[in-house]
Amino acid sequence: MTQGQKRYNTNYKKRVNVERDTYLPRWSPKGILNCRGCGAVYYRRRWTLTPPPEVRDLVESREEVSNTRCPACRKIRDHYPSGELRLLGATPKEKREMLLMLRNEEERAREKNPLERIMRILADGTEWKIETTTEKLAQRLGRCLEKAFGGSVVYKWGHNNKFVRVIWQGATVKKKVA
Ligand SMILES: [Zn+2]
Repeated sequence: MTQGQKRYNTNYKKRVNVERDTYLPRWSPKGILNCRGCGAVYYRRRWTLTPPPEVRDLVESREEVSNTRCPACRKIRDHYPSGELRLLGATPKEKREMLLMLRNEEERAREKNPLERIMRILADGTEWKIETTTEKLAQRLGRCLEKAFGGSVVYKWGHNNKFVRVIWQGATVKKKVA
C-alpha cells in the first residue's frame, strides 16, 4: 500500500480481509432475514425491498424469519462508507438540483439493490461530500451528474479498489484537483 492510497480511506485498518467487502457475509445465510433498520428482506441469496407475497407473509407472521441488520444499515451505524462523491464548483442552484437528483438516483438504485444507500451528505463551505455504502453507487451518482450537468468526473480508487472517491467538477472550476 502506498501512502497516497491511505488518504482515501481512513478506516483502512478495520479491513481484515482486503479481497472482499467485510460487511457481506462470507457464506449465504440460510432462511429469510429481515433488517430491523430499513426493512429490507433477504431471501434466495439477495436483499430486496419488495419480496414476493409468500415471503412477505412469512415476514409479517415472523415465521422462519430472523431479525438482523443488513450490511448497508451496519455500514451506516459504523460510519463506514465504501464510496464518496465530492462536488466542486457547483452553484447553489445547481447544488439544490443535484441533491434532488442524487436522492432520486439513490431510490432507483435501492429498488434493485437495497444495500446501495447514501449515508451522509456533508457541506463544507463550497465543497459537498456525499458518502455511500457501496463504491458502485458513488460511481453511478457521478455518471448521473456528468450526464445532467456536464462538468468533469474523476474516479480515484483507494485501498484495494474497495473504496472509491468520485470527484465532480463544475465547468467553472479551472483548478485541477490534486
Ligand atoms: Zn437495512
